[in-house]
Amino acid sequence: MVKSLYFKIVLILLIFIIAVMCAVGAILMNGVTSFYIGDFTTQMRECFADDGILMMELKQASAAESYAEQMKQILSSYGSILGVDKYRNYYVLNLDGEMLTGSDIELGASLPITPNILSAINDSSTTISMGGMDYADWAVRMKRGNAGADCIIYIKDSLEEMRQLNQMLFTIILQAMFIGIFIAVLLSFFLAKAISSPLQSLTYDTQLVASGEFTHEIEVRSADEIGVLADNFNYMKERLRATLEEVDGEREKLDIILSCMRDAVLAFTADGHILHFNNSAIELFGDSLRTGDLSIEKSFEILDIPLTIEGNSVRLTSPDASAEATKDGFIFRDRTCGARVYDVSFAVIRYVAGKRQSSGCVIIIHDVTSRYELDESRREFVSNVSHELKTPLTSIKAYTETILSDPEMDAETRDYFLGIVLSESDRMHNIVSDLLVLSRLDNKRTNWTIESFDLKQSIRRLCEVMRGQVNEHRHRITFGCQRDLPPITADKQRIEQVILNILSNSIKYTPDGGQIDIKLSHLSKKFVRIEIADNGIGIPEEDIDHLFERFYRVEKSRTQDAGGTGLGLAIAKELVEAHGGRIAVKSSLGEGTLVVIDLPVECQLEKNGKR
Ligand code: ADP
Repeated sequence: MVKSLYFKIVLILLIFIIAVMCAVGAILMNGVTSFYIGDFTTQMRECFADDGILMMELKQASAAESYAEQMKQILSSYGSILGVDKYRNYYVLNLDGEMLTGSDIELGASLPITPNILSAINDSSTTISMGGMDYADWAVRMKRGNAGADCIIYIKDSLEEMRQLNQMLFTIILQAMFIGIFIAVLLSFFLAKAISSPLQSLTYDTQLVASGEFTHEIEVRSADEIGVLADNFNYMKERLRATLEEVDGEREKLDIILSCMRDAVLAFTADGHILHFNNSAIELFGDSLRTGDLSIEKSFEILDIPLTIEGNSVRLTSPDASAEATKDGFIFRDRTCGARVYDVSFAVIRYVAGKRQSSGCVIIIHDVTSRYELDESRREFVSNVSHELKTPLTSIKAYTETILSDPEMDAETRDYFLGIVLSESDRMHNIVSDLLVLSRLDNKRTNWTIESFDLKQSIRRLCEVMRGQVNEHRHRITFGCQRDLPPITADKQRIEQVILNILSNSIKYTPDGGQIDIKLSHLSKKFVRIEIADNGIGIPEEDIDHLFERFYRVEKSRTQDAGGTGLGLAIAKELVEAHGGRIAVKSSLGEGTLVVIDLPVECQLEKNGKR
């Protein structure tokens, strides 16, 4: 209340009014006193002028025996000119200052000797003499010459009239002051209200803005300074709202980017507490992130990163070949954590918390498992290709050298050796052709010849083609086909290649005298199913998932003899999937294998197109 604007305005106005009234009062009262005294002096000077009638008459009377009585009569007759009343009296004094006669005998009996009376006694000039605010007087010595001792005419005013006037003025001023104070309080209320209501609304609005509420608009009612202030505040609020919206938008964008990021992002304070994390980080570190249990040291431990934090600086605890220094931190490449491989970047960050500049660190964990696996499989592939080509090349080289080193070699042996060279060359040719097929499929550069054909007839023809091999191994082969199968649209040659690969596997991996059954059926309106089953050696369960990998063979020793390269199933899978189909293998070791191929009736490949 004491600090309120209203109180201050009231106080200022009160002080102002009191001060003004005091000044006015003082000036007025002083003016009244000066006027009264001045008037008294002028009156006395004029009346008692040496050449004035009053003085003439008084001089004449002074020569008489009963001069005192005569003088009294003269003064009494001049009473109105001298202003004689109950507050102003005249006296005739002897030179001892004692009253001989006067207008008020009672008062005159106890007249004090004033400076003026003293001057008259001493026969010096008379001026007005003031006894503070008690009286004003005038004394004139009257010379009597030979008639007797001189006397003194003495006029004394008790100033009571002036005091009464001043008192009245004081009362008027006091009344005026109270009325003024009342008006001031009333005025200051309206003034304070006029000033403080826009200020109060400004204050209320600033509180709203501080609490994040920007919709309330201050009404600008006037064009004065407060109006300009309110106007400026509205503008400032609008700018602030726009800026905050922009910042919010940016933060939201950043949040969305962070939450959509496949990389795990974690931020820690300098003392190691978690500051921020995204969804990928939760997937990696689990609920310990939400509960705040994950410290920076713990995350370093999980990711096997040899870093420590001392104050705001990050230190490598031991030299690590995979640690690359960056501008703000380090990158650790190919860190294995569980079954995954990560590149872990570490950087120092600075941010504002409260009003303080703080620092911390951010960890970005980039999952490079697929790249790592790709690199691995590439390395493995190159090694496989080299290995697969090296074996036949070594044979070719050895047999060719043997033939060349012995010109006398008999024709039968040489033909035998040349036969081996030829079969190894064929093997190499097959590997290279298979690799070319795969490479074209990988690069989507295969030329497809899409046509509509009868799959049943194709399988029958392939059975005939393989008849020689089947008979050689004394296998029995059956082919069962559902009725009313529609022709399918596909690359006939390549689908036949798939079936041939699977069929030749069944022939190869089934001991002589085995049973091979082929079935062709409707899977749905849109798909047909080919099933090729044998009762051969089967495939161990743990190998089944890898069968479609390039160069994968169950047991190198058992398949090498059969002349396999480990590319047949990989090619089959690529070709079937390129047509929009599926291929799967079911097998039990020692019992046999079933290969199931589902093909769409209408494949999505473009005729003569590349894919
Ligand atoms: P390959 O040219 O070596 O036959 P594939 O890719 O066609 O290569 O086959 C991969 C491996 O799967 C073969 O090496 C073989 O061990 C196994 N396999 C494929 N078909 C059969 C089958 N019908 N019976 C047993 N094992 C099979």
